[in-house]
Amino acid sequence: SSVNTSDLQDEPSPEASLKNFITFVKAYQTQQSTEPKIYIPLIDTEKCTECGECSDACPTAAIREDFTTDATRCIKCCACVKICPAQARGFHTPFARPLSENFSERKSPCWIL
Ligand code: SF4
Ligand code: SF4
Repeated sequence: SSVNTSDLQDEPSPEASLKNFITFVKAYQTQQSTEPKIYIPLIDTEKCTECGECSDACPTAAIREDFTTDATRCIKCCACVKICPAQARGFHTPFARPLSENFSERKSPCWIL
């Protein structure tokens, strides 16, 4: 039987998402080359109970006695963010939004012949 192509639904394009993300990365690289900014986990001192679990979990001993982060040691693994029972640590990376916007939804495999 014949297929009416107008009945076929457009699926999200993996190429469009990739291009969006590449555009973001290039803008990020430009911004970092002119005004470099270091992203590390930050602490909300209002929420922190000083339990020390983040320090124990940190593989590089990057968490100081006051539970702030030493940017020169931090490898941004987020082990401290995940383990904090008080949700007092957060890692606000600029990559989170573009990754979520472009890659949260599954795209079908794309064949190029
Ligand atoms: S794990 Fe969370 S609550 Fe405990 S010391 Fe670290 S930041 Fe504070
Ligand atoms: S992100 Fe990883 S390396 Fe950085 S402070 Fe947290 S646990 Fe340590």
